[in-house]
Amino acid sequence: MKPPRIITNSPLARVARQVLGSSSVAMVLGNTIHLSGATQEEFLRDPYWVAHEMCHIRQFREHGYLPFLWKYLVESARVGYYNNKYEAEARVAGQRDASLYARNGVLPDPATMHRGAGEPS
Ligand SMILES: [Zn+2]
Repeated sequence: MKPPRIITNSPLARVARQVLGSSSVAMVLGNTIHLSGATQEEFLRDPYWVAHEMCHIRQFREHGYLPFLWKYLVESARVGYYNNKYEAEARVAGQRDASLYARNGVLPDPATMHRGAGEPS
């Protein structure tokens, strides 16, 4: 399983940022976190944000790339962004898992997150 990666100044994330009208956006596609309006350092410094996006990476892994993209878009069209069940799950994960990511500059594999990234295996 490949570790997640981060792309900064992502043109895709910039489009999402303009559509959402927000100052910074992270967008997950498969195993990659696309950032716009935030540096990698700023992103990694926010454990809630990291935990939220790591949940989306897990969702892509669990459902498969295209199936998840499709389910996510259908869900968003039906109930909107905020009530999208995949966003609700990621908001819960953001709160629940933030403590696992409260280490500067480290992006652990989501497969290890429930064991606790800093614990001996
Ligand atoms: Zn999200």
